[in-house]
Amino acid sequence: MNRIAARRFFAILLCCGVMGQPEAGDGQRFDLYIANARVFVGDGTVLERASVGIIGDRIQWIGTEDINRTKAKIVINGAGTTIIPGLIDAHVHLMSSEYLVDDDSLHSYKTVILPHWLKGMLLHGVTTIRTLGAPIRESLEFKEKVAEGLIDGPRIVASGPGLTSPQGHPAATMYQQYPDLKKRFVRVATNAEEARAAISEVVEAGMESPLKLVFHGGEPGGESYKIMGVPALHLAPEALEAAIDEAHSRGYRVAVHTNDYEDALVAVLAGVDGLEHGVVSAPIPDGRLLQAMLEHNTFLVSTLRLHKLLHGSAVQQVAMDNLKLLHDGGVPVVVGSDTPVGWTYPGLNTVLEIEALVAAGLTPSAAIQAATHNAAVNIELEDQVGRIHEGLFADMVISKGDPTTDISLLRYPAYVIKNGKIVRGNE
Ligand SMILES: [Zn+2]
Repeated sequence: MNRIAARRFFAILLCCGVMGQPEAGDGQRFDLYIANARVFVGDGTVLERASVGIIGDRIQWIGTEDINRTKAKIVINGAGTTIIPGLIDAHVHLMSSEYLVDDDSLHSYKTVILPHWLKGMLLHGVTTIRTLGAPIRESLEFKEKVAEGLIDGPRIVASGPGLTSPQGHPAATMYQQYPDLKKRFVRVATNAEEARAAISEVVEAGMESPLKLVFHGGEPGGESYKIMGVPALHLAPEALEAAIDEAHSRGYRVAVHTNDYEDALVAVLAGVDGLEHGVVSAPIPDGRLLQAMLEHNTFLVSTLRLHKLLHGSAVQQVAMDNLKLLHDGGVPVVVGSDTPVGWTYPGLNTVLEIEALVAAGLTPSAAIQAATHNAAVNIELEDQVGRIHEGLFADMVISKGDPTTDISLLRYPAYVIKNGKIVRGNE
């Protein structure tokens, strides 16, 4: 049984175990019960005047009749509120080189800054993140610390180091002056064999789907292409193809950092499962990319705010227009804030990225879906998080009012619940 099949099998067992429990009609008590709220399920469905019962860390029961209030230890009166699933940010750099230059800064980052940031994410309603472009050891360390409750934060999906060309971004750009960090934050490959070896290494070290590749830069022998002022080459196409094939053969999805149209098209046609950033450098000129993304069911991770912060409003507008065009064509959009690159308000970044999707022209419901169910599918956790559904983890954000008509309400959650525990708000 491969990795995905094994997890699905486990999830079905788990799901059936929970679903097989009595519906709180025969003496079972909920640990937490939210009565008479509007429930945005996450997949486009909305339930009016619904109640949600939680036992332990799971959603146990959802009904449109408030029949179980007396069977709960803690009751939240949900009248006038909207429940959405806990937010998922699919593009976070848990370890950022902007804050790391040597061992001393690494120590401070791990012991002071990062725990503070993880807590901030949780308080803003972000209950799951995918971290990418980060060293294996620290990715696992923080994933485990959060899972064990030693640090308050969102559950962590760890993609590990990204794969790029030795002359590529970020190996030759951000890490040019920091060879020790480079070894830990990135993997490099010049050919198919090295690409397969790098993918095998990160998979066997316990990193999770989707794995990250970088396909951004110039061609060897072509015109100079500069990233952060440094001439940069993209991954050799045979290395890109081999990395995708190796990851897929192991049951992993692959997401590729791109900025330019032709690079994005090559990556999608090579079979990647997601684009990180997508097309930012110029307006999408034709329908080839959309058609290829639909044929390959390729996801798009947004990072719209990043472009404004790093490159200004004009670049962000191009990224917004391109994203809207792909979204309207049927490409699943996923929220990724690229925290903390460019700016540092962990948690709020994610909420403002959702607002940026609305500014780009998505409906608030579509933008919230991008940060919940779509993101869960992209990181292959759709049977655990991303919806308000029986059997899934009880991760949710409760807003006074309706964020599907006023997206700014997500900035001020009345309650945040993760794993069935209230982490923001009063019971
Ligand atoms: Zn990034």
